[in-house]
Amino acid sequence: MSKVIDHIKNAQSTLFSFEILPPSMGESIHKLFDNISPLMEFKPKFIDVTYHREEFVDKKMPSGLLERKSVRKRPGTVSICAALMHKFDVDTVPHIICGGFTKEETEYALIDLNFLGIDNVLALRGDPIKGQPQFQPTHGGHHYASELVTQIKNMNQGTYLSEELQNPTPTKFCVGVAGYPEKHFEAPSMGSDLKHLKQKIQNGADYIVTQMFFDNKKFFEFEKRCRAEGIHVPIIPGLKPLTSKSQLTNLARHFYIDMPEDLVEAVEKCKTDEEVKRVGIEWSIQQSRELIKDKVPCLHFYSMGKSTSIQEIAASLF
Ligand SMILES: Cc1cc2nc3c(=O)[nH]c(=O)nc-3n(C[C@H](O)[C@H](O)[C@H](O)COP(=O)(O)OP(=O)(O)OC[C@H]3O[C@@H](n4cnc5c(N)ncnc54)[C@H](O)[C@@H]3O)c2cc1C
Repeated sequence: MSKVIDHIKNAQSTLFSFEILPPSMGESIHKLFDNISPLMEFKPKFIDVTYHREEFVDKKMPSGLLERKSVRKRPGTVSICAALMHKFDVDTVPHIICGGFTKEETEYALIDLNFLGIDNVLALRGDPIKGQPQFQPTHGGHHYASELVTQIKNMNQGTYLSEELQNPTPTKFCVGVAGYPEKHFEAPSMGSDLKHLKQKIQNGADYIVTQMFFDNKKFFEFEKRCRAEGIHVPIIPGLKPLTSKSQLTNLARHFYIDMPEDLVEAVEKCKTDEEVKRVGIEWSIQQSRELIKDKVPCLHFYSMGKSTSIQEIAASLF
């Protein structure tokens, strides 16, 4: 299998990739296969699979008392990557996060990925868990994605956590990291966020994938500032076609992004979600065309469990 960075190096034109979520607990993987099968026609070079850490829910016990339980609503990231590679012969990029993992557990997870022949990971910190105002690193785990990048790159050099290993086999992960054209929500300024982004690259990250954005100007400005900061790795824009009116506010709130006025006005005029979907598709196509003209290395689509819009967009672009 190949590394994302090699796909980019070997490309003659802008590539296509997308991101999926593992099925909700109890759902069949076949639903996921059916959902993404039509997208395979457009030859994605890689598919990202998100990672969802545990959440805490209060469950009422027969005694009437509440018991706090830890649940994982979308397990299966690694096995889905292996299943996709097997079924579609496509490269996969599992997301790996700091939250919920000690360094040792991270090492075990990376060993599993390495043994499965997965050569790519997206290294992330993860969000604070519900109810916590700030991200709390796991005891013995990493605080920032930059530290996770260092651990992965150390393994690529054959440096594992235990110093007693005799000639440990180097791994060969290509490492992606997240970038935020509209700034990460916790960063006090864009300048500070870019300084930390640069740290991830200095620690060895090979490429950046951006948070979704709906205004290309934000991406171009971000790209320019990254280059001015001395960040020279490929920057892959992340795109999300709108599919419902409620996403206007939900995505803005959840991802700390601004919706352009023209898009808001067009969506507000829609009477049904089918109409919103058409607006979302057209908007994404226009964004994509402009980004392709700018020679971005790849267009990365957030499917969030829905692929029909991405299918239409890909059909008109690739
Ligand atoms: C493309 C993409 C995919 C994602 N996939 C997932 C997923 O699968 N699962 C999931 O749980 N979440 C995912 N997320 C969400 C991500 O985990 C959150 O946005 C998280 O809050 C930050 O992650 P990060 O890797 O950007 O963190 P970091 O790069 O560690 O940065 C987090 C914050 O800390 C600041 N910072 C960094 N280093 C330092 C330092 N040394 N000192 C002080 N401040 C510092 C940064 O400026 C930023 O504000 C994804 C996000 C993106 C953009």
